[in-house]
Amino acid sequence: MDSSFREDSIKTFMKSWKNVTIFAYSKPKGYSEETEFLRKPLRIESLFSRIVGIEHSPTPTSEPEELLWDLNILIAEDNDVNQTLFKKILASIGADPEKISIVSDGIQAFEAVCKQDFDVVLMDLMMPVMGGMESTKWIQAAIPNEKQPAIYALTANVLEEDRTKCLESGMIDVITKPINRSLLQAKLTDFVKSSKRP
Ligand SMILES: [Mg+2]
Repeated sequence: MDSSFREDSIKTFMKSWKNVTIFAYSKPKGYSEETEFLRKPLRIESLFSRIVGIEHSPTPTSEPEELLWDLNILIAEDNDVNQTLFKKILASIGADPEKISIVSDGIQAFEAVCKQDFDVVLMDLMMPVMGGMESTKWIQAAIPNEKQPAIYALTANVLEEDRTKCLESGMIDVITKPINRSLLQAKLTDFVKSSKRP
């Protein structure tokens, strides 16, 4: 998806999706296994989920959690549509938008954490320049223990092997994309309750 797919497009898209059905063709013969195909009939929310990597959740299932308001959160994610949507999800579950920062690669994430104290980092694993796992190792090596942010991996891969590698690199948990809003809220609330911050 190119960067011209901006917020207005998303809003228009979201307003219309409930009443629209698109029929897509099944996988033709001869296409490689890497090619992605959508099942028919295709629902707009499914397409949207596949495009932007986010769970379709037009109606919040839980109230914003006020414990999350004081968290300083860094989103490290290279997809600009995901950046905007993850920020909106965080705001909808109770985070203060003013305390959410966004970077686009692992080096920028490392630099941001060195400059400012963050409580939480949502770290995409696949980013240009430096991926999330490498960035986490750098952060672990450079930041004193008492200032270490809680780093959550963001990934579409849910293999146990990947989870183990994330935890070994210093991340505290793995959040799968598309992001489940309620699960994210539960994880961050648990984090706040189990830590001294804030
Ligand atoms: Mg990525």
